Amino acid sequence: MSDELIELTVAEAAERIRSGELEADEYFAAYRQAAAGDSLNALLWRSADASEADLEGTRTARDDLDPERPLAGIPVVVKDIFCTEGIPTTAGSRILEGYRPPYTATAVRLLRDAGARVLGKANMDEFAMGSSNENSGYGPALNPWDTDRVPGGSSGGSAAAVAGRLAPCAIGTDTGGSIRQPAALCGIVGMKPTYGAVSRYGMIAFASSLDQCGPLTRNTTDAALLLRAMEGRDPCDSTSIGIEGGVELPSREDLKGLSFGVPRELAGEAEGIEAGVRQVFERTVALIEELGGEVAETELPHAPHGISAYYVLAPAEASANLARFDGVRYGLRVDAEELTEMYEETRARGFGPEVKRRIMLGTYALSSGYYDAYYGRAQRVRTRIAEDFSKAFERFDFVVTPTSPSVAFKLGERTDDPLAMYLSDYCTVPMPLAGIPAISIPAGLAQPDGGGPELPVGFQIAGPAFSDSAMLDAAHALEGAIGFQPNGGSR
Ligand code: GLN
Repeated sequence: MSDELIELTVAEAAERIRSGELEADEYFAAYRQAAAGDSLNALLWRSADASEADLEGTRTARDDLDPERPLAGIPVVVKDIFCTEGIPTTAGSRILEGYRPPYTATAVRLLRDAGARVLGKANMDEFAMGSSNENSGYGPALNPWDTDRVPGGSSGGSAAAVAGRLAPCAIGTDTGGSIRQPAALCGIVGMKPTYGAVSRYGMIAFASSLDQCGPLTRNTTDAALLLRAMEGRDPCDSTSIGIEGGVELPSREDLKGLSFGVPRELAGEAEGIEAGVRQVFERTVALIEELGGEVAETELPHAPHGISAYYVLAPAEASANLARFDGVRYGLRVDAEELTEMYEETRARGFGPEVKRRIMLGTYALSSGYYDAYYGRAQRVRTRIAEDFSKAFERFDFVVTPTSPSVAFKLGERTDDPLAMYLSDYCTVPMPLAGIPAISIPAGLAQPDGGGPELPVGFQIAGPAFSDSAMLDAAHALEGAIGFQPNGGSR
């Protein structure tokens, strides 16, 4: 019975709960049990292990009372970067060990208001810096398709939990690809909404001008359900604006009347895309045409500079955002004789190597004398990338690319080479730089270069700002035609 429950999509489970066919408590219990058996290190906190006092933070006064709420009784896994009142929140960092926030992030509060319940907090790369979850201060999460491989990052725990059937849905954050890339590597749907669609209040800041919250789910309908609950203007985040007209549930079955641009820089001519990934990408592009969509090549001339601009801008913002972790306000404190020494010791012990690297890069890029040469220049590149997209969208409704140049790689394979790791985001970084929405859907399976087990490949669709609903709709039609069997993830 509980196996059957665990195969339900969010939309199906919500419908059964609404009709009285399924008890919310029974459904939640099935997932508590599944989550308790987490062998993927996907979850850093589980409601199953929590005390009654802890659990207060997962409930709202109205919990379970109103089955009419759209997500009534739906368990959700929340990336550990979202503050949850009274529940440990680490952002994957040892510096926040033991920290229990006094408030809850708006995105999580809205999910709960819609009836969802927090099932667990997901493992992640420390402060969302990474593409493999190997930068977590709590050990890597594992890919359910092959536990010798990474689930992607930084929302790796969220993706592993959904693909590994520990949760029906999860939320994560995407700054340069951290929702879409792990979704691709784990064979699920992951969406980064338009910047400002979802409030960042209570989401521990990495690079504030890029960070955006979004859903990781088994299909596009579930992604729309979660986004619909979370989007909106929030007085606590002055950059939030919501999505005008809200989010429609996707229903499209063909792609007639829609045009898709394939940017040669991120697809056809891009180097470093694995042969198997390329094949699945080309097959999916052909499917778009079969569904009545128009496909033609386009260009995003500045997109190849996305990685360089991103790795100046994101560390610059991070170096400022992470200054607050000083041993005084949150989590870890290493005592010392002098105040400055206390700061230094705490930060030296609490932050991992990648976070330190980014703080140093960012501080350097912002220092007087270098500010214009690095930060100013990267900002100008960012503008060019946004202009490239605007131009492409004059002609096309959407732009499509592979999500990740490779399928899931082996644990340890890229840890000694930060640049190789950074290139995992080649196709996903341009969209947040432009502030536009993008979604990754599973498009098929492929072997890694050099052979090995067949692993999921993600297909990315990006659209103009606030086209979130239309993009989900197009992705839905394509998803139906692809017919990907997500069950592989539970092997
Ligand atoms: N992998 C990228 C990085 O390390 C993106 C991370 C993210 O989107 N949070 O910064």
